[in-house]
Amino acid sequence: MKVMILAALVSTAALASDNDLRHRPKSFSTPAGKAVFVDFHEANYNITYDITKGQAFVQAQIKFTAPEAGLPIFDSVTAPTRLQLNGKDVTAVETQTPARETTLRVVSANVSEGNHVLQMELPLTALVEFKNGTVKSAFWTSDLASRQFLERYLPANFEFDQVKMNFQVNLIGAKEGHKIYTNGVLGKARNGTSAAISYPPYYTASSIFFHITPASAVEERRSSLRSIDGRELPVTVYHQKGLFSTPGNLANLEKQTAAIFHELEKDYGAFPHPGIIVYNAGQGGMEYCGATMTSAQALGHELFHSYFARGFMPANGNSGWVDEALASWRDKGYSSIAQLSGTSAMSSHPYYNRITDMQAYTFGERFMSLLDNKLKAKGGLKPFMRYIIEKRIFSPMFVEEFATEMGQFYGTSVEAEFKQYTFGRSSGRPVNTKHVENKFHPKMTLEELKTYL
Ligand SMILES: [Zn+2]
Repeated sequence: MKVMILAALVSTAALASDNDLRHRPKSFSTPAGKAVFVDFHEANYNITYDITKGQAFVQAQIKFTAPEAGLPIFDSVTAPTRLQLNGKDVTAVETQTPARETTLRVVSANVSEGNHVLQMELPLTALVEFKNGTVKSAFWTSDLASRQFLERYLPANFEFDQVKMNFQVNLIGAKEGHKIYTNGVLGKARNGTSAAISYPPYYTASSIFFHITPASAVEERRSSLRSIDGRELPVTVYHQKGLFSTPGNLANLEKQTAAIFHELEKDYGAFPHPGIIVYNAGQGGMEYCGATMTSAQALGHELFHSYFARGFMPANGNSGWVDEALASWRDKGYSSIAQLSGTSAMSSHPYYNRITDMQAYTFGERFMSLLDNKLKAKGGLKPFMRYIIEKRIFSPMFVEEFATEMGQFYGTSVEAEFKQYTFGRSSGRPVNTKHVENKFHPKMTLEELKTYL
């Protein structure tokens, strides 16, 4: 039995890597040479909050495979203070992609095809707050602007890449107990000063929910939900004291979570993640694998994303609209329309785009309603959604693959529809300004997010 389990694990890892390679962006030329996207397979992050000094810093070790020779690419909004490639000191240059879609970091030393190790040190300053012998810190993300996934906090790869990630979290000089809320496996805290967290190998730069806070700052309720597949899933709902902490709030959230959970399981099958964390904060919310930071109003939208976005995963910015269109289609009551005028560029922004086009919530929702109507005789869109979750769970995909899978499922091509309505002419990149923002995912600055730490 042990042997069989091991074989199964090995083959899942191999599949993840194959899928990574199939979705890896193309290399491009820079003045220093050819920049190549590589396949991270393991990333170990040692995260230290030195409360005494009021400083946080990260040591990262990234094991990766270069499928071709060149200058390896990674991303980190914060510049590393020290960087080593295979044990030798190197530097990395912040570089724009060819059509200036986004910025990333290119290591200034060539690697051969094969396995290598990057090690780096950098300060952690985004969303960290030290106060009276305590620390609050979170790795909250957004796909409405570039470089707001894990790379905002830790060195990471683009969203196509599934990486086995591990955290070692250290606290120095804490004057009281802290809690960590996360969607990984949290090891036993050692002396209350350090904790290890292990995340599943299918996680990407947009999967992790991580929040550390003084225990006295929050209130929580724990319960469990029975999945249709027999699992008993642990559920944690929590809020910050004094922010949303009205009497009965946590009990209400728990009830609402249970109702949405059963609705989603009925429509799309067993919940894809081993548990649920709901942090009630913010206006609107953001989704993670089996977790969300959200307002009560957006809870259904965000938990839906545990299936579409963080179960069925986008492999690049131009496929990010699919899950938002599906979520909005649910929000608006799964409507069906016979006609749709106009087009959009949701699928056709320049190649290295990393942002979700906000038209997803409006035009994208209409487009799903149109597809539902077209496929009405075959049960509409929902049976396909259930099928794609079962077939392609945790394997990031492009919008083109989504359209092909849909066509194959119904035995009738939908490629012409995707072309007509989502591959219109792009004006350069999605224009996600504040005034067109969606109520479920408002654009928030780091300063605004700090309120919810
Ligand atoms: Zn959404």
